[in-house]
Amino acid sequence: MKTIAIIGGGAAGLMAAAHLAESAKDKNITIHLFDKNDHLGAKVIISGGGRCNVTTGIHDIKQLLQNYPRGAKFLMSAMYKLPPPKVMEWFESHGIPLKTEEDLRVFPKSDNGKDIVSALEKTITQNPNVTIHLHLKTNVTNITKKTGFIITTKKETITADYLLIATGGNTYRQTGSTGDGYAFAQSLGHTITKLAPSLSSFMTKEDYPKDLAGVSFTQTEITLDSNSEKKSYTRKGPLVFTHRGISGPAIFAISSMAAYENFSAKEPHHLTINFLPHLTKAELLEKLQKEANLHGKKEFKNFLDILLPKSLCEVMARELMKRKKLPSNSIHAGQMNAELKKETAELIHAFPLTITGRSPGEEFVTAGGVPLPEVDTNTMESKICPNLYFAGEVLDIDGFTGGFNLQASWATGYLAGESMLKRLNKAEL
Ligand SMILES: Cc1cc2nc3c(=O)[nH]c(=O)nc-3n(C[C@H](O)[C@H](O)[C@H](O)COP(=O)(O)OP(=O)(O)OC[C@H]3O[C@@H](n4cnc5c(N)ncnc54)[C@H](O)[C@@H]3O)c2cc1C
Repeated sequence: MKTIAIIGGGAAGLMAAAHLAESAKDKNITIHLFDKNDHLGAKVIISGGGRCNVTTGIHDIKQLLQNYPRGAKFLMSAMYKLPPPKVMEWFESHGIPLKTEEDLRVFPKSDNGKDIVSALEKTITQNPNVTIHLHLKTNVTNITKKTGFIITTKKETITADYLLIATGGNTYRQTGSTGDGYAFAQSLGHTITKLAPSLSSFMTKEDYPKDLAGVSFTQTEITLDSNSEKKSYTRKGPLVFTHRGISGPAIFAISSMAAYENFSAKEPHHLTINFLPHLTKAELLEKLQKEANLHGKKEFKNFLDILLPKSLCEVMARELMKRKKLPSNSIHAGQMNAELKKETAELIHAFPLTITGRSPGEEFVTAGGVPLPEVDTNTMESKICPNLYFAGEVLDIDGFTGGFNLQASWATGYLAGESMLKRLNKAEL
């Protein structure tokens, strides 16, 4: 009889346990699954606003991996083993129909993340192939290794031959993911990279975003200047103004690319928004000229709303007045001079904002974790401590929004489960 301990009943731990339970036919395996919550998959249940963006409709692996600012190369084997179509197949064959939305995000048809967790839980607990011990409301406090792993909780001590650390990252700590896995990894000989929040909204020095709160754009191009290096981060995508600044998929992606930059009122970052990235400067100027000819009698800011939402036009007009390009008394579109047209086009293509911080406590994932060179990419086994495995966000892997983080957790969890099983089979020969 061999014993496997899995610390963390989140996305990665559940997929590893489910795969083990289904594949370990006629094997003498006992699995101890620990989670500090009184239910499994707490973060999966709240993910995607409760709808659970379970994976992505991007099937090409190379294209898929472009959505991981950290860990893309390392993820290759796991993604080939359990790519998005196989994740979809897994859930659908376990009774959860899925749908792919226009932007390629995949959700359960029920729009309920609980269904995703239920499918995994059922597979784990109702499978006769393995003996499962679910330790809920059980906080693992210490792990040491002698011949096996000694897992200590407040209630008991359990010994296991194989150990999977799937404790997640360090965000939304109320879901139980409080970064304990980093300390466990360190106590077993690993190092931990610098950690940083990723996928967050930004706060701005300017307070006009609050006048625009809720105004959204489906296609913008964002550019954020780095303060530490001579470079900038650029990303196209949707954006929404908030009461404190800016948010939305393009901002989340930029915050992820710039995860290790420091943001504060003392160290603000310069960001620009291109509201009409599909037009070149020349095309935009031509459009402004054409519209001015057609609507010469319209007041300037009313004329601008041909191109932009009304509330933004007022902010634009105020900015142009501040730059002394637009007189404070209103003018008509037909009265625009060449300089005003040029400045208006520039503002539409590079609207400036001063970023003073990330919205605190709202980041979705943690950048950093167990360093990837310390883990075997083909098995998820530690290169430092034999029979120790890692999966999910505890690793130095994180993706953009769009189902990429759960996809990485399913894939690494599945591969870790499979590798442990192979090792068990070998040990029994
Ligand atoms: C609000 C929010 C929404 C999100 N939405 C999406 C989305 O729609 N799509 C997407 O792809 N990604 C989304 N993510 C990210 C995604 O949920 C995570 O990346 C993913 O859940 C990580 O899986 P994991 O198994 O590594 O860790 P987790 O799912 O965080 O699970 C780790 C588990 O380990 C347990 N644990 C930790 N320490 C201990 C201990 N000492 N003892 C016992 N148990 C312990 C925790 O209780 C927890 O249940 C979202 C994240 C957040 C915060």
